[in-house]
Amino acid sequence: MLRNHVTYLCVAVWVSLLGAAGCVDVSDDGLATGDAVEAVTTAEGFESGTKTAYAVADVTLGTGTWNLDDALIGTLSTDVKTGAQSARVRNSGHITMRFDRATGADTVTIHHASFGSDASGTWGLFSSQNGGSSWTQVGTSRSTTGGSFSTATFTVNLAGTIRFEIRKLDGGTNRINIDDITITDFTSGGGGGGGSGAALSRHTTLGIPSPASTTDPNHFLSVKSGYVISYNGSRKVPNWVSWELNTSYLGSTPRQDDFRPDDTFPASEPQASLADYSGSGYDRGHMCPSADRTLTVTANQQTFYLTNMVPQAANNNQGPWATMENDLRTIARTGKELFIISGGTFSASSNTIGSGVVVPDQTFKVVVVLDAVGQGPDAVTTSTRVIGVMMPNENNQISRTADWHSFRVSVDAIEAATGDDFLSDVDPAVQAVIEARVDNQ
Ligand code: MN
Ligand code: MN
Repeated sequence: MLRNHVTYLCVAVWVSLLGAAGCVDVSDDGLATGDAVEAVTTAEGFESGTKTAYAVADVTLGTGTWNLDDALIGTLSTDVKTGAQSARVRNSGHITMRFDRATGADTVTIHHASFGSDASGTWGLFSSQNGGSSWTQVGTSRSTTGGSFSTATFTVNLAGTIRFEIRKLDGGTNRINIDDITITDFTSGGGGGGGSGAALSRHTTLGIPSPASTTDPNHFLSVKSGYVISYNGSRKVPNWVSWELNTSYLGSTPRQDDFRPDDTFPASEPQASLADYSGSGYDRGHMCPSADRTLTVTANQQTFYLTNMVPQAANNNQGPWATMENDLRTIARTGKELFIISGGTFSASSNTIGSGVVVPDQTFKVVVVLDAVGQGPDAVTTSTRVIGVMMPNENNQISRTADWHSFRVSVDAIEAATGDDFLSDVDPAVQAVIEARVDNQ
């Protein structure tokens, strides 16, 4: 469990649905604990505040200060609205929170409509976990219809500091109305079984392989929109990276190649640099692959954080590892739901590069293939396909033309090598069967 070091933190409530400020029980890893939590719901109805021009400016609303660019507070009869006011956005305008929520976000719901008789507009919701320095689109873009509000629901599932922005994406002069933005708290995630994985993120639906939190530098938890990391600050590589793969993540975005340190990490967390890898003889080996995240530019860029990399032998990374990644995407494209965990195994004699970035002795993957997108632990049976591999991570120990199938091992073998407990939210009796088996399909 992650519930060590529980502290009590008073959190200002922007505008609670209950209309009152509250004291919230939050563990110091930033995850609200499961019990005695008063929800800190942000509900912005645009009923207070005045902004009559489109020119960019801050405006104080009920929940705090927002920045409205090519956007205003509409009060006309042609503004679709709840109450007397709603936001109106044109061109490539946006509505941006100038403040953070401390309690993460579970879901965001937004009412949206076309203004007056304007043509349909397309918009998206973006989140930032670094005070607005960088933004990631949440889910898919939405399109407005005229006359009355539709409700757009977004699943966010991110812990810790977060703020949101609504962007009009079509760039046209058609106007849209936005109202009744409701943000609910992130629901607590634990570790080591008990069904806690799904509460942390979609990407850990089958369980959290080992406890992680934002206060443990060697098991540093980073919950991203595209994947979840437990990061090891001493080794400067992840312990494990866990992600969901299905066709909803696959598009046509080209590889962005913007390898860089992770700007969502605190400065206190030791990270690898580009210089550590440069000339090291090892590839910057993705754990969650670039090609698994091709729906949007931001989703693809997120895979290029060095925190999602290990120093990987070229014969491994560009050989059987890459072939396996391709084959898993091929399986996903048939409509399957895959959950994948990847990382390295280490020993006292593991090699290092640069300023102490530890080279894994082997890289591993654990893959569960479910029949339908949206399935979770309950759908895993003793006949579910589970693929484990461990691949040697030195060029002289692995051939670039080797068949990845030859590196298959049981999940039990990977658990023994890493100390992790994979698939911990699956029924223990089922785990026992599927983790002992070596895939032979
Ligand atoms: Mn790779
Ligand atoms: Mn297990």
